[in-house]
Formats: sequence, C-alpha cells, structure tokens
Amino acid sequence: MRNKRAWFAAVLGLGMLFALEGRAADAAQKPPAKTRVLVVTGGHPFEKDPFFKLFKDNPDITYQAVEHPNAHALLTAEAARQYDVIVTYDFNQKITAQAQADFVARLKEGKGLVVLHHAIAAYPAWPEYWNIIGAHYYLAATNINGVAKPRSGWKDGVKFRIHVPDPKHPVTLGMQDFDTLDETYKWFDVADDCHPLLTTEEPESNKVIAWAKTYKGARVVLIQSGHDHVAYENPGFQQILRQAIRWTAKR
Ligand SMILES: [Zn+2]
Repeated sequence: MRNKRAWFAAVLGLGMLFALEGRAADAAQKPPAKTRVLVVTGGHPFEKDPFFKLFKDNPDITYQAVEHPNAHALLTAEAARQYDVIVTYDFNQKITAQAQADFVARLKEGKGLVVLHHAIAAYPAWPEYWNIIGAHYYLAATNINGVAKPRSGWKDGVKFRIHVPDPKHPVTLGMQDFDTLDETYKWFDVADDCHPLLTTEEPESNKVIAWAKTYKGARVVLIQSGHDHVAYENPGFQQILRQAIRWTAKR
C-alpha cells in the first residue's frame, strides 16, 4: 500500500512536471498579448505627462521609457528581447559605431520603428539614419552630392488641415481629414520609397508629413506631428500613432 502510494505520487509529480514544461514552451512560442514598446527620448524638452499619457492610455501596448544617454544600451540583442517596437522622440544625438550596428541589427530582425516629430533629426551625423527613416532634415545648410541644401525650417503654433490620402492603409485605416494646431517643418527631403500617409497644403509645412516604409526586415513610420500637448491630444494624432505602433509590430 505504501509503495503503491509512493508510485502514484511519483507518476503524479512527473505528470505535473511535463504539464508545466508544456506550458512554458507554449509561452515561449506565443507572442505577448500586448505589443511591447520602447519609448526613446532625450536631447529636446517636451511635456512629459501628456506625452506619456499617449502610451499609458493605449490599451494595445505596454511600454518602457528610456532617455539618452541610456537608450543605446537597450539596443543590444539581449536587451531587445523586452520590446517589439521602438518609438523615438529624441533629437540631435551622437551615436557610436557599435550603437549604429545594434540599431540596424534590431531593424533587420524585424523590430518596428515609429519616429515622432523632432526625432526626424535624431542623428544628424549618421547618413544611414536617413535611409532608415526615409527623410533628411537639415539642422544646418549643407551640400549633398553637389546640391546646396538650405537649413530646414520649423514654425510653431500653425493651425492647418491634414489630409489622409490613403485611408485604406493599415496605419491610416478609418481616418478622415482633420484640423490641427502644431509645429510644422519644411525644406526637408523625403525619399521616393516612402508611402505618404498624411499630407497638407499648408505653405509653412512640407507637403508630406507622415509616411510608411520598410527598412531591411522592419516596418517604419514617421509622423512629423507632435510638438506639445495640443498635438498629443488631437484624436487624429492619437489614432495614427496607435495604428502605426500596431502596423510596425506586424499585428
Ligand atoms: Zn517641436
């Protein structure tokens, strides 16, 4: 009787062990229920509470925030297991060769990238960054392959209408033209392989102000809007940001 009980306990124990291992294997294979976002800031002041509210209020995601100079440490393969999409809102940073290689490697692996507002000029001395995001914003007048480029412009507090040229694209799905009050940028270049998502006829702005593209294994969206809480609180901005995170996460 005692032996029988011991045998039964052993079988039960083994069964539980297999069940637990099976569950662990399932968890490793299934993607997490929510998209995990890394939010990168630094180099430019911004209104922190209303900005991070955009991420707190997004039911599709969990997020962690990091500020330069700590951001590049999270681009290693090991650290990147913690997130699916990088949202950048940083500005005018230096980047080492190692961090450049890590950044590109993560995109090659398929991490999503959403670039917001002043992050269009996050790495002014890194030419590959312009290929990644599909734009070149000039912080100073310069010369590119013999072509003189004036310094790019910006204007705060512009009230203007934003047009949605492709409301069938997953990033702008269901969106309609909307009004905004935001900072505009102009005299920056947008690459030909960018699919326009938002445009405007406002003379103080570039015509194309949001786009989607791919870079190696990654989906990339740039949204020029997003200067302050007035922009953050615009439902159109909130919708395109939510849908950009979802699309770049390949969900
Ligand atoms: Zn701004």
